[in-house]
Amino acid sequence: MFPVIRFALLVVFLAMLLLPGAWAGSRQLMVDAHLHYVDFMQDSEGMDALMEAMDRAEVKQAWLFGLPVMKKWQAQAPRQPRYYLGDEAPLYYYSATDDILAGAVLALPADQQARIRAFISGFNPTDMHAASQIEALIERYPGMWYGIGEILTRHDQLTALTEGETPRANHPALMKVYQLAASYDLPVLLHSNLSSLREETPIFLPELEEALEAHPQTRFVLAHAGTSGGVEDQQSPLKTLVPILRALLERYDNLHVDLSWSVKEHYLLDEKGVSEEWLSLIEDFPDRFVLGSDLVGHFDSLEKQLGAFQPLLDALPKKVAEQLASGNAGRLVPKSGAVKSARE
Ligand SMILES: [Zn+2]
Repeated sequence: MFPVIRFALLVVFLAMLLLPGAWAGSRQLMVDAHLHYVDFMQDSEGMDALMEAMDRAEVKQAWLFGLPVMKKWQAQAPRQPRYYLGDEAPLYYYSATDDILAGAVLALPADQQARIRAFISGFNPTDMHAASQIEALIERYPGMWYGIGEILTRHDQLTALTEGETPRANHPALMKVYQLAASYDLPVLLHSNLSSLREETPIFLPELEEALEAHPQTRFVLAHAGTSGGVEDQQSPLKTLVPILRALLERYDNLHVDLSWSVKEHYLLDEKGVSEEWLSLIEDFPDRFVLGSDLVGHFDSLEKQLGAFQPLLDALPKKVAEQLASGNAGRLVPKSGAVKSARE
């Protein structure tokens, strides 16, 4: 064999050895910015399972929240539902989710508490009481809360199955919540689909824009980049998603984008890898994107969910990949948890 070819093969071999190692090193720094401690029945595998999964996935910190809704098990149901789409039974708002989370966090030793950034989610986003309910939680658990969300508005079948008034990003009750978030320096993780089933235009975009526009001091994180499974499973998802996000990011400095779940599965990654369109969007706004697993109460697949972002991280410049994997999520939350007296 020619020496030059031998040398080239050696270089390739060494690169294969070194690259995954380099990746594993940067993954140590990962922050999961979308993780639900409980499922739709408000059950959880618990903190031991979560910490183990975080270790395995090399996640140093997680934004952790409950779920604001609970699936009803109706007497005539053929079986106990396992997911919110398990049958046609409704969901209802379940505020105990925050106390379940707070209790679990308080039971942790200090080093493990430091890996959790707990968010308040258990309120009805159409109730004008929501903001004062959040403030009461801040008072009840001083220093516990680092953010508000995931707030569920426009979420296809989930919204349709949730009892009561339909939530929307510009609801007056939420406008008060955004104001409160700014006053406590808390980010808001907001689920607000841009579009609906069988719609190819972003019919809900004006609601989101109204919220962003009215609260320039509030840091918003748009869950799943404004998508959700039910909408995107249809034949024609929102083809203009990337240009819409680009326009929003240009217009609103207070907007950040979470790339978990449906956006990852239906837009970001395909067999060919990551499209140029997405790469240039993230490179043009390197401090505006975060990653997450969106697991609900069961944490076994944390490594798999976050590992799925690897082609994206590998395709980005190293600094941008680090911002996306951990830096942005770290910067979006305050340095310490909210305390009521600190504001007054
Ligand atoms: Zn979620």
